[in-house]
This record gives sequence, C-alpha cells and structure tokens, in this order.
Amino acid sequence: MTSSTPTERLYDIVEQGLCIGCGLCESVAGRETVSMMKVPSGYQHPVVIGQLEHSTVDTIYDVCPGTRVDGMPDAHITEGTSIDPVWGPWRRIALGWAGDPAVRYEGSTGGVLTALAQYLLASDRVDFILHVRASTVEPLFGEPTLSFTEADVMAAAGSRYGPTAPLLNVHDVLDRGQPFAFIGKPCDIGALRNWARHDPRVDELVRYWLTPVCGGWGTPTFAASFLDRMGVDPDELTGFRYRGRGCPGPTRAETADGSVDAHYLDYWGDDASQWSLPWRCKICPDGIGEAADIAASDAWPGGSPTREDSVDDPGTNAIIARTAVGQELMEAAERDGALVLEREIGPAEMSEYQPHQVRKKLAVSPRLQGIADESRVVPRYSGLRLDELAAGQSVEVNTAQRDGTRERIRKGKATEATPKPIGSS
Ligand SMILES: Cc1cc2nc3c(=O)[nH]c(=O)nc-3n(C[C@H](O)[C@H](O)[C@H](O)COP(=O)(O)OP(=O)(O)OC[C@H]3O[C@@H](n4cnc5c(N)ncnc54)[C@H](O)[C@@H]3O)c2cc1C
Ligand code: SF4
Ligand code: SF4
Repeated sequence: MTSSTPTERLYDIVEQGLCIGCGLCESVAGRETVSMMKVPSGYQHPVVIGQLEHSTVDTIYDVCPGTRVDGMPDAHITEGTSIDPVWGPWRRIALGWAGDPAVRYEGSTGGVLTALAQYLLASDRVDFILHVRASTVEPLFGEPTLSFTEADVMAAAGSRYGPTAPLLNVHDVLDRGQPFAFIGKPCDIGALRNWARHDPRVDELVRYWLTPVCGGWGTPTFAASFLDRMGVDPDELTGFRYRGRGCPGPTRAETADGSVDAHYLDYWGDDASQWSLPWRCKICPDGIGEAADIAASDAWPGGSPTREDSVDDPGTNAIIARTAVGQELMEAAERDGALVLEREIGPAEMSEYQPHQVRKKLAVSPRLQGIADESRVVPRYSGLRLDELAAGQSVEVNTAQRDGTRERIRKGKATEATPKPIGSS
C-alpha cells in the first residue's frame, strides 16, 4: 500500500522523467481533473486541477507509455511475419516515397506517411486520420488534429521535434464512432494500444496504425539554444518548421519580420552524440514502432544526412510493413500510384540507416535495471526482446550502461520539477 497521494503518484511519472507528454492521462482522468499544459521547464505535462483518485492513477499506470511499453499484440503476428531480434515483426521492408511529387516534397522524408494517410481517405478505408500538425498556439510544439481531406493531411506533413500530445482528446475521437487511422510516434502508438485493453472501441475503430521511426525530440533547452544561435527571440516566434520540403529540407523559424532558415544539422548537430533528448527517449524501449502496422523512417547511411548530399535530396523512406494489414495497405498504395517502392531491403540494411536505434535497443534493458537500482518507477515492458538482446552483450558493456544510468539519475539528469502552471507559485 502506497502512502503517496494520487497526485504524487501521477507526478512521480513526470518528476522521474518518464512522461513523454502524449496526453492520454488527461483523457483517462477527464480534463476537469488533469490538464496537459506547458510547464515552466518548457515541456508539456499533466497538471492535476481536480480531485484525482487512486483508481484513476492505477489505470494511468497501466496505459501511460512512460510506465508500460508492449510490442505488437499477439493477434497481429500472423503467418508470414518474421521477428528480427532488433527490428521486431516485419513482413516487407522497402525503400520508397510518395507517388505524388508534391507530397514527396512536402513530407518530412519522402512523404510516405502523408501519402498513405491520403490514400486511406481517398479509398474510403477510414473516415479520418488522427495525427498531429504544427501547433497553432506554441510554434515549437505539435498539436492533435483530425484530417478529413487529403488537403488536411498535407497541411500536417512534416516531423514535429517538440512537445506533441496526439492523445489529448482521444475519448472525443472515439466517441465519434467512426473508423479512423492513427499516426503517432511509437510511444503514442504504444499508449493507444495500451488503452485498447480498457476501451474496446480502440480495436473496433482504429483500422490502421502508422508511425515514424523515432529517435526522440529536442529538449526545450536544446530548442532554445538553437533559436539563440539563430538570433531569433523565442517570444517573437510565430511559426517553426523542423524539416520537410525536400529531405530533410530547411529548419525554418518564422517571425513577424520574416523567416530564418538553417540546416537540419544546425539544429541536431553533426552526429547523434549531440542530440539532447528527454530522459524518456534515452531509455525508450521502442523507438521503432513495433506495435504499428507500418513504420516509416529516413534512409540516410549512418543515421544522419550530410550537408552536401541533402541539398537536392527529394527524400527516400525506409518502410517497414509489420502486419498483414500494413502489407496489404503498402501494396495497394503502390498498385494505385500513391506510393513508389524502389527496392526491397531487410533488417540488416535498416540497421545501417539507423545505428542509433540499434545502439539504444541493445542498451535499454541494462538502463532500465539502473533505474530499478535507484528505486525509481521502471517502465514495464514485454514482447520487445530487450533482455535477450542485452544477454548477447558483454557483461562489461551492460554494466557500463547500468552504472551510467545510475550516475545520471544521481546527478539529477533524469529528474524534472513538479509540474505546475507557468506563473503559479
Ligand atoms: C520526434 C521524431 C523523431 C524521429 N526520429 C527518427 C529517427 O531516429 N530515425 C528516422 O529514420 N526517422 C526519424 N523520424 C522520422 C522521420 O522524421 C519521418 O517522420 C519519417 O521518415 C516519415 O517521413 P514521411 O515523409 O513519411 O513523413 P510525413 O509524410 O511528413 O508525415 C509525418 C507524419 O507524422 C506525424 N508527426 C509528425 N511529428 C509528430 C510527432 N512529434 N508526434 C506524433 N506524430 C507526428 C504527422 O502528423 C504526419 O502525419 C522521427 C520523427 C519524429 C516525429
Ligand atoms: S506520458 Fe502520457 S499518459 Fe504518461 S504521464 Fe505523460 S501525458 Fe500522461
Ligand atoms: S524516442 Fe521513444 S519516447 Fe521518445 S518520442 Fe520517440 S518513441 Fe517516444
């Protein structure tokens, strides 16, 4: 029996760096009880504003992607599905791009997720797409949106590398009773899959699950430092586009006075060691979207673009069809011209494009052990082969990951302030 209050228990998730800001807890608790808001650290987190009960927090712990991460539900692993130790369930992996050059151009990489979402609407397979677009309130953020037309989908193209809560209004979305597709990061997909165990409407209404492969997004401090380097006052910012319009396309900060462009590498740095990510992303058990029908990634050898090669790059996605539903969609979209598939690849080539994902997948199990050593909340996980992957590593490597995690926690690098509204005492 815990002596913590329900609010303290919810805040443990945030304070221990496990909240990625998906918004599901606001839906679970009700917006009169928990409100997702920008907090003084610059993140978007749940703040308790009403009477929160232990039973509600129990449910949140069962569905929050900070506390529970599962792989593909067994029912979707069917004949013809292979399980790669690192890359998980897959049926086909191919390089490709959107059939419409305008979509390929506008998209983050090759516009595959936008093209698939448009195809789902055009072929009447779903009534709308639940995904995100650039926030209309906080230029660095994303915000949930429902796209009913191909133009709506196009307007939401591009990756958002800032706080983004796609599941904020998921109860309202399910209340519509209409079939839809969900595009969200792997943690968002996991959260909604978790919610499916509590709400049967999820499996009934979510017909397609699509995800970007995800290495994480920039911390608020990282984004602020970028704006500072660009000479842009954050208070003057009216719009922000992280990438897209070519691959990766310009990172563009807009103010009333005009816009400033930078290269993707000016934002992220020249290699993965320079990325400043939320703690949850550093210990992410699934950045590759194991529970999605289709996961789409970049296809840059070594994991990053070069300044030279990316000048005129029209964008090529690596596309993983994980389920029979995903494979059928991929093939139908190719047949009808929504997608161009260039050639088949396999897990080994994926690893060449995503060395950071491979490194993280191997490191997660000992990192989670390090969290347990420090008596913190440890995300439960299943179906992701994490312990088996760590068992293939040397004891020295695993110990270094485990001890490094403990050290970061002790230094406060995995701790966030208690969430509260900006301006409150
Ligand atoms: C936070 C983040 C980290 C990423 N890390 C990697 C990586 O490590 N390796 C890699 O290969 N690729 C990564 N990507 C994926 C890559 O940036 C492209 O999104 C992917 O290749 C799909 O490209 P596309 O052209 O098909 O996307 P588009 O056609 O532009 O479609 C993108 C779709 O993703 C949705 N979306 C955008 N941002 C978010 C968000 N923050 N949360 C939820 N949904 C969102 C949009 O609503 C849109 O529907 C990352 C993407 C994101 C958002
Ligand atoms: S990750 Fe999502 S469900 Fe978990 S605490 Fe954060 S916003 Fe709530
Ligand atoms: S790295 Fe993991 S936790 Fe972070 S945004 Fe991506 S899927 Fe979510």
